[in-house]
Amino acid sequence: MGSTGSIGTSALEVVRSLGPEYRVAGLAANRRWRDLADQSRAFGPSAVAIADPAHVESLRPLVNGSTEVLAGPEGLVELARRQDSDFVIAAIVGAAGLASTIAAVEAGKDVGLANKEALVVAGSILVPLARRTGSRLLPIDSEHSAIFQSMAAGRRSEVHKVYLTASGGPFRTWTGDQIALATLEDALRHPTWDMGPKITIDSATMMNKALEIIEACWLFDLRPESVEVLIHPESIIHSMVEFCDGSVVAQLGTPDMKTPIQYTLTWPDRAAGCARRLDFRTIRRLNFEPPDMERFPALRLGYEVARQGGTAGAVFNAANEQAVQAFRDGRIPFGRIVELTERVLERHRVETRPTLEGLLAADAWARQEVSTCLKD
Ligand code: NDP
Repeated sequence: MGSTGSIGTSALEVVRSLGPEYRVAGLAANRRWRDLADQSRAFGPSAVAIADPAHVESLRPLVNGSTEVLAGPEGLVELARRQDSDFVIAAIVGAAGLASTIAAVEAGKDVGLANKEALVVAGSILVPLARRTGSRLLPIDSEHSAIFQSMAAGRRSEVHKVYLTASGGPFRTWTGDQIALATLEDALRHPTWDMGPKITIDSATMMNKALEIIEACWLFDLRPESVEVLIHPESIIHSMVEFCDGSVVAQLGTPDMKTPIQYTLTWPDRAAGCARRLDFRTIRRLNFEPPDMERFPALRLGYEVARQGGTAGAVFNAANEQAVQAFRDGRIPFGRIVELTERVLERHRVETRPTLEGLLAADAWARQEVSTCLKD
């Protein structure tokens, strides 16, 4: 799901490198139908799905005759459910990935989860659903993969806390005034990771880390106080777990998503990796600093939302998605992304035990609120 994106294309590289034991049964994207057609011819899936139905007729003649073409968001849901696959990589960006992720979990498939927004919006639905169907949510996010791997060094009851590392993004050393007026080009210049545009902007506001705090709470059943964000500009330690005896276990690697993607596919085993390796002879030092909550208020919001639960995550995520889009469209300055998100959160009355419909309604409400604020 999201095969044409940054994670999706890396996942296909991993599959190719793993060899014939792994077969691609389906591919799905939104609009980039030419890329989807190329991928389809290269990997020969039994079906492809394109979320934007406007492109289905352009796509159809370009795929292999034996490949079925599904269309619309419901086409993606059908693809995620189909019985000819046993593993789904959820790599759609934003809440748009929720429906197909739920479908895969409902079908009892294991899911390699990159689409953190799905958990932020609907962790309260996805996590219990996965428990019921036996589906496992295996984290692709490098930090959560690191936590998952480090946790294997002890028992769950022995975990004292988790250090969620963050590069600090392109504005780590900028003043608050400079950050407020950063351009789109500035925000898209990430110092260590090469990613899709939305997550790159989220890294610049540190909204990405805020989403990851919530993601970690859902994935590992943690209280927000047990998740400590630590700035580590080199992005070599991907996160750490501190156990009750004071031992800290970390996972290290080059900043390349192919490593955590592959781990979800081969888990609980490991296979030869295709990413560049660390060379400790060239790493002189690893730096750490506490995050600055004043310049990066998104982090404070992330903790608040994680504590509130209920519909707060859906509102937080949707408001941020809309605000990021407004910034990308040149409608608001960079500094307003987090400000708008906070304003919408403040106006929201959290429903504590929402249904999926309640979460989707909160998501729609938050998007509408951002539009209203933009008109003010
Ligand atoms: P990209 O923007 O590079 O790719 C997004 C993918 O989602 C594309 O295939 C796109 O299709 C598809 N898509 C977008 N909107 C829709 C929609 N409405 N319906 C169906 N498909 C849609 O994003 P990334 O790969 O960077 O990120 C994907 C997810 O992984 C995000 O949740 C992100 O937070 C997470 N992640 C990413 C990391 C990275 O290194 N990139 C690291 C850790 C997590 P199309 O190409 O046709 O538009």
